[in-house]
Amino acid sequence: MRNRRAALAAMATAASLALTLTACGQDSEGGSKEDKGDAKGGTIGIAMPTKSSERWIADGKNVKKNLESKGYKTRLVYGEDDPDQQVSQIENLITQGVKALIVAAIDNKSLNNVLQQAKDADIPVISYDRLILGTKNVDYYASFDNEKVGELQGTYILDKLGLKDGSKKGPFNIELFAGSNDDNNTKYFFQGAMNVLKPYMDKGDLVVRSRQTSLNQVTTLRWDGGTAQKRMDDILTSAYKRERVDAVLSPYDGISIGILSALKSDDYGSKNKPLPVLTGQDAEIASVKSIAADQQTQTVYKDTRKLAEVASKMVDAVLNGKKPEVNDTKTYDNGAKVVPSYLLDPVSVDKSNYREILVDSGYYAEGDLK
Ligand code: BGC
Repeated sequence: MRNRRAALAAMATAASLALTLTACGQDSEGGSKEDKGDAKGGTIGIAMPTKSSERWIADGKNVKKNLESKGYKTRLVYGEDDPDQQVSQIENLITQGVKALIVAAIDNKSLNNVLQQAKDADIPVISYDRLILGTKNVDYYASFDNEKVGELQGTYILDKLGLKDGSKKGPFNIELFAGSNDDNNTKYFFQGAMNVLKPYMDKGDLVVRSRQTSLNQVTTLRWDGGTAQKRMDDILTSAYKRERVDAVLSPYDGISIGILSALKSDDYGSKNKPLPVLTGQDAEIASVKSIAADQQTQTVYKDTRKLAEVASKMVDAVLNGKKPEVNDTKTYDNGAKVVPSYLLDPVSVDKSNYREILVDSGYYAEGDLK
């Protein structure tokens, strides 16, 4: 089916292709109506996972802006969390003759065939934020230190509960949430958090009343907040009769907002039932507002402007026959090769520093957070 679609697309003229793209609901912002390859470096295809989360919208905009400032044209598409749609979008980008691809995968294992097509067409591929697995046809990886993200979340929980400095003893009740099992980052985030939390779980200072502690018990397909809300509802009903949950490890702001809804439906946040410490990731506006209002407690900020810059520089270097700058050549083995990576630093944000980190740096305007 996919091959047939690719073959048909290959036969299409530029004009009818443009129509096909519109019919598929693809986003072709930034590409001129017809790419004639007259921009300095031609057109770069950017495949992002979803518009349902702010961070990916910012990533798309920032990558596009960066590449255009370097003289490239861009085609930016969003796969709306549907792996098959992302595959056909990338096939279309290849058919259109993009010079390079920047891909933030939806399902890290579903891109092998399409990336072989990219290889055959001599199109370099940058894996963006999420490592693409099981193929040699990934040239570089631009991301954050993903294990550190989890460590920041875990450490924050220990700090807030007073376990880190020993000012409180526990036991405290904690519940664990992880991201989507088809996203390679998920296991790094979880591993990072467990590096710091597990010793306290082993000592009995942290108790997981639901007993759901292994990664495969706590993942949240496609990072969906509604799915997390439902799971938290179920846990509160089955494992917390009189007891209270003191902390929840959440890997992503959209999941934190879902968890928060479940908690509030169970009266948390009322006078005698304080909300637990609740982590997150991405510093999305809804969550930053929630942090300012003492609801969600923490998030991990990852400056997507910097990530976009790293990925764009990688593309520019590769297309000019240069070696992109990398700072890690060991960690990210995708099963077919160790992918040379540039990893940025994530930052823990809570009520005490969100203005300094997010507003003073210009990431958000004060008005965005009103
Ligand atoms: C990203 C996170 C994001 C999550 C959900 C992960 O791959 O690294 O920043 O919270 O996807 O979109």
